[in-house]
Amino acid sequence: MDCIFCRLAEGDEGSLLYRDEHVAAFRDINPQAPHHILIVPRRHLATLNALEAADAEVAGRLTLTAQRLANELGFAEAGYRVVMNCNGHGGQTVFHIHLHLLGGRAMGWPPG
Ligand code: 5GP
Ligand code: ZN
Repeated sequence: MDCIFCRLAEGDEGSLLYRDEHVAAFRDINPQAPHHILIVPRRHLATLNALEAADAEVAGRLTLTAQRLANELGFAEAGYRVVMNCNGHGGQTVFHIHLHLLGGRAMGWPPG
């Protein structure tokens, strides 16, 4: 299996914003906000539908890493958006779970 997010997550630490035992974070190649970061589990999981109870730790780490990076990058207080797209109606295009962390500008609602 050739998965771009597996390769990025396990690749050079220099291109990552964060990595621990469970998750890795890197900048989106096509940013939709001044800060657009993708946080991924290091273990390949295709969609949110693949998460099981045993993945509770990694699921929690995704959101905790979003909060941590928002703090470190200085936009936690101003606010930010976290999004996980699932399958066709969700607009998912890369089939390795990723949490989008978007910050640095005001977001609209509802999303498109
Ligand atoms: P999705 O639509 O699946 O929720 O989001 C996929 C995201 O991955 C998009 O925002 C897209 O710009 C980003 N992306 C796709 N390919 C790459 C890549 O090779 N490197 C990085 N850093 N981001 C990518
Ligand atoms: Zn993968």
